Amino acid sequence: MPSRLGSIGFQWYSSPFGGILKAVRGMHDIFGSEMAKWKWIETQVRSVFETFGYQEIRTPVLENVEVFSKTVGDETDIVEKQMYQVTKENESLVLRPEGTAGFMRAVLEHQLHREPSIQKYFYYLPMFRHERPQKGRLRQFHQFGAEFINDSSPEADADVIALLDAIYRKLGITEYDIRINSLGCLECRPQMKETLTGFLRPALPNLCEQCQKRFERAPFRILDCKRESCREITAKGPSLSSCLCTKCQTHHTQLKKRLEEAQIPFIDDPSIVRGLDYYSSTAFEFTSSLLGAQSALGGGGRYDQLAERFGEKPFPAVGFALGMERLVIALEAKNAFPQPHLFPKLYLAPLGERALDILFPLSLQLRRAGVWTEISYESQKSLKAQLKHANRLQAHFSLILGEDEIGKKVALLKDMAAQTQTEIPLEGIYENLLNKVNREN
Ligand SMILES: [Zn+2]
Ligand SMILES: [Zn+2]
Repeated sequence: MPSRLGSIGFQWYSSPFGGILKAVRGMHDIFGSEMAKWKWIETQVRSVFETFGYQEIRTPVLENVEVFSKTVGDETDIVEKQMYQVTKENESLVLRPEGTAGFMRAVLEHQLHREPSIQKYFYYLPMFRHERPQKGRLRQFHQFGAEFINDSSPEADADVIALLDAIYRKLGITEYDIRINSLGCLECRPQMKETLTGFLRPALPNLCEQCQKRFERAPFRILDCKRESCREITAKGPSLSSCLCTKCQTHHTQLKKRLEEAQIPFIDDPSIVRGLDYYSSTAFEFTSSLLGAQSALGGGGRYDQLAERFGEKPFPAVGFALGMERLVIALEAKNAFPQPHLFPKLYLAPLGERALDILFPLSLQLRRAGVWTEISYESQKSLKAQLKHANRLQAHFSLILGEDEIGKKVALLKDMAAQTQTEIPLEGIYENLLNKVNREN
């Protein structure tokens, strides 16, 4: 009976995949200079979240399917066809396709909305959607998100919009428009829906197939259709903002006032409806031409009723999500990545076994002290070969130790860029090197 591992090994060698195994379609490995870009973005974005007082939350990759089917909306593409399902014993689980529903599940489970001191959370998590892969749209993608709970004021909306604006500015991205809209509340939404469907009904045969399907259950999403033929129709539509109740109108006016005061330019855009069912009141999108066609860099809105979909008492909440992959594309389009400073301080080059005996413990001592140290374990290699390696790694200094040096109780320290060389005694070499590299910092 072959072990399970053995049978995997057998399949591998018989290569039923027609070649080497590759990553799943639409999912990427990140490494090398790409990794340096990601880490740079992550550091910048985290620092902005911190100045705005947002605390990180991490939820599991797997959630029960109801977390999304009950909340994101049955009619959305995400729930209808894009979720990765995992069935194990009696559990029906899915890989997280978006961040807010899982966040809400965590808030309700831990009663975070009853905790008065913390209202602002951020996440940075991988998401999974089975979509047709294309530039900036992968099946595993990564999102930063902000969620501001327990505050229904327009100032909270302005706070999250200003936060997203600050994130792009921190990264050096300024080429975007901020588009805002109000989707109405429980009170005025039915009136908006009636006005919209009343207008669209005669034009129904001219709408695309998908919009025809949306008409009964999610007519607002027709406003979001990217097809030219649908856009032509909806552009002539009635102004839905005139259907807003007084409360929604006041809220929207106050939000605009706050953004003006903060000198954050925006466009009032009634076509911003967002793809998910749980939004109400404020919705917003940041669009940019850096992504080719004018498309969304990030966006969000208010979801005051979302808790109700979990059968709980609602509480106010507003947030956004922004895609990491799109940020990378936007920054590459601008050529805005700083040169990464990822070079070792020291390269230890032992020439012979005796030299390696001395340099190996020294390398660990230096690393424990926080000095990025590389060492060649191939002490039989020539000095030329070892220094070539040091140059390739772009090490600042190389420390050379051969039989001659051991005899003289010294080592040679070479500044790789300046091409200068000094002898330093082996006695006290650790302290000496530490002083030297710390001086250079
Ligand atoms: Zn309203
Ligand atoms: Zn359409």
